[in-house]
Amino acid sequence: MFKPNQSLKILLVEDNLADVALMEDLLGSFSHSLFCLKSVESVGAGIKCLEAESFDAVLLGLWTPNSLGEMNAIATLKAGAPAIPVIVLTDIDDENTALSALREGAQDCLIKGRFQRTLLVRAIHYAIERQQIEEKLRQQAERERLLSQTIENIRSSLDLASILQKTVAGVRQFLKADRVLIYRCRNSPAKSDSIDLKSALAADDGDPDLCKEKTQNITAALALSCLLLAKSDSPEAVANVREAELDTSFKQLLAELGIAAVLSVPIWQSKDRFAASEELSAVWETEKNAGAALDANSLLDAEKPQVEQINAANCQPENRNYLWGMLTAYNCSGTRQWQEWEIDFLKHLTLQVAIAIEQSQLYRQLAAANERLQQLATTDGLTGIANRRQFDRILMLEWRRLAREKLPLSLIVFDIDFFKLYNDFYGHLAGDDCLRQVARAIASGVRRPADLAARYGGEEFAVVLPNTAAEGALAVARTIRDRLWKLQLPHERSPESCVTLSVGIATAIPVPHDSPTSLICRADSALFQAKAEGKNRIFQAIDNF
Ligand code: GH3
Ligand code: MG
Ligand code: MG
Repeated sequence: MFKPNQSLKILLVEDNLADVALMEDLLGSFSHSLFCLKSVESVGAGIKCLEAESFDAVLLGLWTPNSLGEMNAIATLKAGAPAIPVIVLTDIDDENTALSALREGAQDCLIKGRFQRTLLVRAIHYAIERQQIEEKLRQQAERERLLSQTIENIRSSLDLASILQKTVAGVRQFLKADRVLIYRCRNSPAKSDSIDLKSALAADDGDPDLCKEKTQNITAALALSCLLLAKSDSPEAVANVREAELDTSFKQLLAELGIAAVLSVPIWQSKDRFAASEELSAVWETEKNAGAALDANSLLDAEKPQVEQINAANCQPENRNYLWGMLTAYNCSGTRQWQEWEIDFLKHLTLQVAIAIEQSQLYRQLAAANERLQQLATTDGLTGIANRRQFDRILMLEWRRLAREKLPLSLIVFDIDFFKLYNDFYGHLAGDDCLRQVARAIASGVRRPADLAARYGGEEFAVVLPNTAAEGALAVARTIRDRLWKLQLPHERSPESCVTLSVGIATAIPVPHDSPTSLICRADSALFQAKAEGKNRIFQAIDNF
């Protein structure tokens, strides 16, 4: 910060020699030299001077013939050296001129010949002070802008790797550090006297010219840092690795890596995760209850996803607030006194990172739960193949698609023969097992990715064969019947002594205004005929196109 009695270097831009002499007189007549004045005649020469050496303030005489235009002269000077205060000296005693000068970026405007030495000195001091305050405010605003931009970047993603990479990139830009890393540490603070092998470098952003160290060595240094952080519970700022009081092995490791200064901030996994996880569990319960109405059998058997286990783990008090990892900035080019605001920035940011990490974890759990729900909603709980709901959905989708493409759609329906007698003879559990085996035989008989085998209901199954004509459907039906026949599942009460199927097939080229119901009816009628003609046979409806 500027001190009032320190010697100041002033640049005077003035083409009027009388004015130059006056200023030299005013600023040079102190008992000890408080001011070192250098004068030039034009703005252009002034800019060259500012580029070549540093000044504390500029006194700019307006109406200089070589200036680029009155107010333009201020803007030009400010553009060349934005942090140096400019005081305008003018002949024009006019409020508007003074205001325009201030708006253009001057710190003050004095009327030539109307000021005493004390007023001039004070004006210079005030201008420098104001400029410094403005500069601080500007820097702070810039930091806040960068911080909110980095947070916005981090929060815009739910993918953990991308969150961490955006964080290190943002921090490096902000701190202008040589390398910024995030280390994921798996040690719990309670038992942190060893380095867990699962700990790993999670994100890295560095200047390749300055930081050529091997990642292997870096992770050893990070592991040690992490250990220290877990114990100290606060950020660790080392301005000069050589001179700092550090663990000897850590110091040696850093020195070998050419690291001159380190700033490490812990990333804590907050207690809130526990609450959020519980919330997710509640969502799961709601979804499950809603789903149960749709598919009672399968959903009641459903396992609750991972969330529950995580809740259980979080119930352990020591896991409620633990060290997830650490964000570290390295300076390789030289020592560095880490500023309070830099440490505060990282503290603030790591809090946001912890929240983003938790959100991404919750999102992953939710996505997994949704996927499981989706699976439960579309599969039959007993046999594991598609359920009736999925059958209806796919049949409708294929009907519409093939109506557009004017291609055939075949449907095969299967019904186990004498199944009531099977249940009566072997019992319902054996009946269930038989249903599973028949389902497997049917599912293994369909090959194309778009084909669908489903349990239609009870002991009835269906196969949807898109883009398949009657002959193809007949071939599939035969394959499935043969497969079941080969299994020779015993059925004492059937004339064949084994489990058999009656099969009905129908094929159509769908029409947009019609529904697949007609296709189902025709396949059902064919099945009815197969039953009527003695069961254990295939009946194919005659094409109606
Ligand atoms: P048909 O040869 O004419 O087809 O006679 P069926 O006995 O197979 O047909 P019916 O419709 O008379 O009986 C079907 C039986 O399937 C009755 C029912 O108990 C049994 N069933 C339906 N769903 C299940 C199930 O999920 N498990 C068991 N074990 N049996 C089932
Ligand atoms: Mg039946
Ligand atoms: Mg039957």
